[in-house]
Amino acid sequence: MNITPPLDTSTKGFRIPETNIFIDPKEPVSCAIISHAHGDHAVEGHETVYCSEGTAALIKSRFKYAAKTINIISFGETFTIQNIPFSLHGAGHMLGSSQIKWVKDGITHVYTGDYKRELDKSCEPFEIVKCDVLITEVTFGKENKIHPPAEKSVAALSEYKDVNLMLGAYNLGKSQRLTRLINDIHPHLRVMIHPKMIAYHKIYESMGFDLGKWEPYKREQFKNEKGIIYLVPPPVLLNFRPGTHFLRAFATGWDEKHARFDFPFYVSDHADWPSLIKTILESEAKVVYTIHGIGEDLKTTPELKNVQVYTLSE
Ligand SMILES: [Zn+2]
Repeated sequence: MNITPPLDTSTKGFRIPETNIFIDPKEPVSCAIISHAHGDHAVEGHETVYCSEGTAALIKSRFKYAAKTINIISFGETFTIQNIPFSLHGAGHMLGSSQIKWVKDGITHVYTGDYKRELDKSCEPFEIVKCDVLITEVTFGKENKIHPPAEKSVAALSEYKDVNLMLGAYNLGKSQRLTRLINDIHPHLRVMIHPKMIAYHKIYESMGFDLGKWEPYKREQFKNEKGIIYLVPPPVLLNFRPGTHFLRAFATGWDEKHARFDFPFYVSDHADWPSLIKTILESEAKVVYTIHGIGEDLKTTPELKNVQVYTLSE
């Protein structure tokens, strides 16, 4: 097995060796494949972009000049750039999020982008893609870091009776997922959303993902009426002073980020430790490169004794 790094790294981001094809570049380039529309994976100003339909809609909404040409690729469809066959596959992280597969020199590579294995009705599901070399995110790659099921965290919101809730959630991805979950688990509650989330909610719905009932934030009603959950971007949550008519929490998988709010609220859109192990084993990759986090524990865990794990420097 060839173990030269499958991607070159520079300040511009990941590039497939001997090509000018970048994956999730951090700066404008001539040819970019974009895994999903979060700001640490998608920037504006590219010449040519290849991405899923959901990602295309979101980057067009986010950026004034997303790219000169955007090629929309369906999941599973093969497309060829510079004689290399590629395909995109669901990553389950948010609307349009894609794993990127390519075959070069007879070796099948998969780049996961951000992903989760949990069912999320607000986006396309994760797909297992068999490969020789897996390049996986390890945001939560710490041994035994386990995310409680998001359904359980959302169900536990019923403990806070007779008070409204203000939940910090990223505008894109997390807030749409929470809107769907709250509708499913607490259908009697009203979901209000911050104005910055509205365009994204509408794009999700236009792509066929029903988020349930939601409404734009109404200050007086949130203050004077009960049974309301208000989703806000994290900076807004930080700026709201604690009130007597509501409690605050931040939807995140990071343990240390809950302490400054009124109660912990664990919801993560990334793979936890068991999901990382499961994904590596199910991919059947014999070589794994880790990105976006600490993958050291994966190098020594007995479950991966037959897999070579390396860190891809970024
Ligand atoms: Zn992301």
